[in-house]
Amino acid sequence: MDLSKREYVNEVLKKKDDSKVLVAGWVQKIKSMGNLNFIDLRDRTGVLQIVAKGFNDLSKLTPESVIVASGVIKKGQKKSGEKELILENYELMNKAETPLPIDLVQETTQLDKRINNRFLDVRNPKVSAIFKIRSEVFKATVDFFSKEGFININTPKITSAGVESGAELFEVNYFNKKAYLSQSPQIYKQMMVAAGFEKVYEIGPVFRAEKSRTVRHLTEFTGIDMEMGFIKDENDIMDVVEELMKYIIKRTINNCKYELDILNVKLEIPQNIPRIKMKEVKLMLEKEGKKLKEDDDLDAEAEKLIAKIVKKKHNCEFVFVTDYPWSKRPFYHMKPENNKNITRSFDLIFNGTEIATGAQREHRYNILKQQGKEKGVNLDSIKGYNDIFRFGCPTHGGIGLGLDRMVQCLLKLENIRESILLPRDPDRLTP
Ligand code: ATP
Ligand code: MG
Repeated sequence: MDLSKREYVNEVLKKKDDSKVLVAGWVQKIKSMGNLNFIDLRDRTGVLQIVAKGFNDLSKLTPESVIVASGVIKKGQKKSGEKELILENYELMNKAETPLPIDLVQETTQLDKRINNRFLDVRNPKVSAIFKIRSEVFKATVDFFSKEGFININTPKITSAGVESGAELFEVNYFNKKAYLSQSPQIYKQMMVAAGFEKVYEIGPVFRAEKSRTVRHLTEFTGIDMEMGFIKDENDIMDVVEELMKYIIKRTINNCKYELDILNVKLEIPQNIPRIKMKEVKLMLEKEGKKLKEDDDLDAEAEKLIAKIVKKKHNCEFVFVTDYPWSKRPFYHMKPENNKNITRSFDLIFNGTEIATGAQREHRYNILKQQGKEKGVNLDSIKGYNDIFRFGCPTHGGIGLGLDRMVQCLLKLENIRESILLPRDPDRLTP
């Protein structure tokens, strides 16, 4: 059959009665009644019912087989009046084996087994909807940075070392030399700001040897990293991040209506994202019975609780927590002049989970060196890093944001593994 004449189901469903069409896709369901067969045919755009009279072979079709079918369009018998295809001719392109390894109909299969059979799992429209939305979030991010004049960069993922803590590094045997998978493009994005690009972003793989098995950590994820120069302070960075969030959500609402509907997710564009100092956040938490020490980070429970308080008070699902303690931040975060115990940094919490960390970076070589000393980091040992600050480096700052984490929080998915096609964690290296 002539595939060049193929049309998508969503187009076919809009056709006038008696139009001749050719469709192709997967057999979602088969029902036989005497010499009548009813087939639900699914393609990437929707599901079409095919009515077949006298095609006796069809009753032997198996679910998820691929067929090409042609015929005429008629108004269906169902109350909805949805169009059907009256079959005239068909071809079996590929017969699916039975039984299927996962249950696509009742959706009873556990996530782990679903991921073992991810290409089948994604045939469930509720699952593919997640990835269509993820694709839109990705595109919206690229479009946002482009329209704001950021330059896209791609930096090495095999590196000699990072500026973050060494504990999370995956070691690689690089021609008998030690190398590591990149845990952040931090060094390189700062380098490219100093190089004169001023505003850069990268969307790429980030590797972290996190042994913990949580619903928000992977060992390989997609990082959205941004860095910009000539900033007044960290508020300039938060301004950009806030606009990015608004833009992503607006684009998703506009372009993913069908997908949001099947996932039963309602999105709202945030008005103004509150910026609350860590000290203040801790007081707010304490009032609700959660006590944290001055130097503590927010744990998962604290993130959930502050999100709840902010949602109630400001009707916003986002919150910037600012002024993180120096003890919890890396050596390159800038400290404000008047308080050396905190940093010009922030986390962005979305629906109760951190999705991004950002900061103004220390660009003054002597101070940076001193801060390195305080944290036990020898700047000279990070190849190529210290020179960035020696030959003309503007004030700058940026963020690291997890795409998978962002999509998880956007769609309120329980487990980050649902928002990535083929997750990697301490127990999983396949498929
Ligand atoms: P967390 O506290 O959740 O472990 P982090 O503070 O260690 O995260 P950062 O170094 O701030 O992580 O990374 C920036 C962003 O990258 C995070 O806000 C998050 O969105 C994402 N991210 C970090 N680690 C992971 C991971 N292991 N799996 C998925 N996403 C991650
Ligand atoms: Mg962080």
